[in-house]
Amino acid sequence: MGIFIIIFWAVLVTEVVIRAPISRQQRKEAKSDQRSSIQEKVLLGLLSFSGFLAPLIYSVTPWLNFANYSLPAWAGWLGVVLILAALFVFWRGHVDLGLNWSPTLEIRTEHKLIMNGIYGMIRHPMYASQWIWVIAQSLLLQNWIAGFLSIPVWALFYFLRVSAEERMMLDTFGDKYREYVNKTGAVFPKAK
Ligand code: SAH
Repeated sequence: MGIFIIIFWAVLVTEVVIRAPISRQQRKEAKSDQRSSIQEKVLLGLLSFSGFLAPLIYSVTPWLNFANYSLPAWAGWLGVVLILAALFVFWRGHVDLGLNWSPTLEIRTEHKLIMNGIYGMIRHPMYASQWIWVIAQSLLLQNWIAGFLSIPVWALFYFLRVSAEERMMLDTFGDKYREYVNKTGAVFPKAK
């Protein structure tokens, strides 16, 4: 197995470890709003394929080798830098959002609108992290199905998710969220 494949899995496992305690606890929280649609479930399924299952098949079998591409060595190392940057942003997002995190669109009874830490700069650090991640994945796993496919799948998920998420936040927090939107960028910090 190549070094880039090993690094990909090491960082993926690290993210699972970071998320696990929050995921376990937030399931017990009482919810006041839940907006998971069939469409979102299908997209989450696609994301698991492009983000986990295809990389796994690629890493342990030769079945996807017909779809390999080959990049210069520097591109792989750029992938390493990017996946570490994605990990950092992912970690910061989890520290700041805490139990307000959820895998699908949910508001808990005790929900707090977080506007500090990394959320003071951008509204969607975890999604920003995922954008960096999919670019890194296509550089580390040099295969159209196990690597590159994650970019269009994520783009589709992102654009549908963000609009629904921001609608839910506006319905819940009203003007407070509107003001927050005016002050921050979605995945890029807003120029002052
Ligand atoms: N879009 C954010 C959060 C992803 S988790 C990010 O990329 O970091 C999705 C859940 O986070 C949503 O169900 C919503 O309840 C919650 N959420 C999103 N932004 C929030 C904020 N600023 N404060 C509190 N909760 C938030």
